[in-house]
Amino acid sequence: MGRISNALRVRAATARHRGGSVRCPLCELDFNTFKDDWNRPNALCWRCGSHERHRAQWLLFQRRPELLDDAGSLLHFSPEWCLRRKLEARGDLRYVTTDLDTTQDADLRLDITALDIADDAFDAVLCSHVLEHVPDDAQGMSELHRITAPGGFTLVMVPLAMEREHTYEDPSITDPADREREFLQSDHVRLYAPDIAARLRAAGFDVETVDMAAELGDQSTRYGLLHSDLIFLCRPRWR
Ligand SMILES: [Zn+2]
Repeated sequence: MGRISNALRVRAATARHRGGSVRCPLCELDFNTFKDDWNRPNALCWRCGSHERHRAQWLLFQRRPELLDDAGSLLHFSPEWCLRRKLEARGDLRYVTTDLDTTQDADLRLDITALDIADDAFDAVLCSHVLEHVPDDAQGMSELHRITAPGGFTLVMVPLAMEREHTYEDPSITDPADREREFLQSDHVRLYAPDIAARLRAAGFDVETVDMAAELGDQSTRYGLLHSDLIFLCRPRWR
């Protein structure tokens, strides 16, 4: 019953907000505006719930189709429904999901710092908004590197403090309220700056930093993108 009424609510909101100002590339629908999120306006797709960062990822895959076309397998951490349904629909991809949260539907329950996965197992890995929760992120990045096949990629996104030069972390801050104040959310263990790229390089990746809002220029407003949603496209360097 709850699921049905929610579907009806989404359908009604989708119809009510159709317009010509913004576009969700995942739904391929146009709206007058995106839905406000708790901390920012014009953020979420009325239909699929995509955030700015999900649209940025999908636009990257649309602009560089070889990223997915060349991948036979993809591991998706904490899979967001809006991306998951698009990736599942591809018949050419062995698509595997993993989530530590047992309330979430996923194929695997994996600890990113100790992945029960063979070396080079996946051609593509999506790891968005995960590492800011992981105390030993160097170990997590090392594991991502280990399971990414040569010639493949791992896509990393994290909440970024663009104004900061250096990532801010302090392991002595453990109280949820303190973490929320210092790191934006009660279950975050640090506040990354764009220098996360250096950490990913240290784990053995070549890192390309993609600013989809800059790449798309005037079009970025139409897709509701943010410059702070940098995509770190990581390709294994060694081996
Ligand atoms: Zn959408």
